[in-house]
Amino acid sequence: MEQDFKKALNIISDWILEYSTQKNNLPVSPKLKFGDIYKQIPKCPPENAESFSTLFTDFKQKILPGLMHWQSNNFFGLFPNTTSPPSILAEMLIATLNVQCMNWTASPAATELEISVMEWLRDLIGLPKEFSGVLQDSASSSTLIATLIAREKATDFFSNLKGTGLAPLVAYCSSEAHFSIEKGIKIAGIGSQNLRKIPTCENQKMNTDILLSTIEEDIKNGFKPFLVVGALGTTGSTAIDDLEKISAITKKYNLWFHIDAAYAGAALILPEIRDIAKGYELADSIVFNPHKWLLTSFECSAFFLKEKNNLVRTFSVKTPEYLKETHFEENTNFSDWSLGLGRRFRALKLWFVIRWYGTDKLREIIRNHILLGQKMENWIANDSEFEILTQRNFNLICFRFRSSDEVNLKIIDHINSSGKFFLGHTKINNQVAIRIVFGQIDIQEDHLQSFWYEIQNIAKKFKKEI
Ligand SMILES: *Cc1c(COP(=O)(O)O)cnc(C)c1O
Repeated sequence: MEQDFKKALNIISDWILEYSTQKNNLPVSPKLKFGDIYKQIPKCPPENAESFSTLFTDFKQKILPGLMHWQSNNFFGLFPNTTSPPSILAEMLIATLNVQCMNWTASPAATELEISVMEWLRDLIGLPKEFSGVLQDSASSSTLIATLIAREKATDFFSNLKGTGLAPLVAYCSSEAHFSIEKGIKIAGIGSQNLRKIPTCENQKMNTDILLSTIEEDIKNGFKPFLVVGALGTTGSTAIDDLEKISAITKKYNLWFHIDAAYAGAALILPEIRDIAKGYELADSIVFNPHKWLLTSFECSAFFLKEKNNLVRTFSVKTPEYLKETHFEENTNFSDWSLGLGRRFRALKLWFVIRWYGTDKLREIIRNHILLGQKMENWIANDSEFEILTQRNFNLICFRFRSSDEVNLKIIDHINSSGKFFLGHTKINNQVAIRIVFGQIDIQEDHLQSFWYEIQNIAKKFKKEI
């Protein structure tokens, strides 16, 4: 048994190394119909043990060709979900120990490492020392948690006790904000009708004049505003709301100010970028996902907030006897900071990543991604058959071929179904935009260049056909 495990470990570690050198040669996205993989999996589990080599062969032949290769340098869609060698190594240790990090007693080092690493991360992104941090599974959970704390604060912690429906609470975000905000509002019992999606103005920013007038109107009509979610990097185009203005409005009306920086928050490790996000330090809470752009494997979402007591008061329940230990109440027990009880040892992978690279190298990697984004933007801007559609803040570019929406969609579809590259689309001012973004650790200018040539060639080919 032990021998088999050792052999299997060696096979997998060789495969991991091979994958990282071959990842760009695989079709980046699979060409499949729903059910194609399902029908290859037997209807019943095996009664008898199967050899690792059969299992691993099936993994390579049946599963791998059905996956999107997010670590490939040909992946330009959605947002990157970047992993790195130190994160992979830490994941192996996490899986081996499989400790539960629900409270201090359950694994003291896990809790204390999480406190330390979150202080490192807080300082790295330039948040003031009054913020405390905790790792969650996703930005969606982090934003839901912020919504729940804000709800409790606005109702003097009565909703937790007596249920919602006490006050007609209303929340605000921009029409470009991520749908996880609406999902959180629904789960929190606020009612999606009570989320006001404020129209945007230039560069997909929230129109703060309309925010202000909507709040005032709501108050006049007997509603109770309680939360504004600002965007630091929208999913469509990495737009940044005017966070200073939003902060001033939330202070005036005593509302919770949460910032969704799920993707772009990683760029805050660069002091020179912080100017475009001025005001983020004024938030009551902020979320960003190291699992998107900070080289840490999925899932790892960093949630920071100023008044941790509100968080603990929102989530803590009377501790059952079997979990009580001496001094239990004085310790930091992260299950009181999260939706679930059980928690993975996520801090270890963040600790490995930060120490393996060091903060200078991490900054260099992100800085280089932004520089590459700028270069790509220049190439596009210099081709008169294309146009840039909105301001580029980081390394996400929205542009279009000067032709109809249909042609732009055809270009995207053609490239995606080739398996050579994968890219996305969005709408900017009601026009279809080709949307590209990247974040792999080893992506270089020549990867971007071949991608750009491909887009130009396909676009020109379609033009001839029109
Ligand atoms: C990706 C993203 C989310 C959702 O992140 P999860 O961790 O998958 O829940 C939320 N907001 C923004 C702006 C995003 O880009």
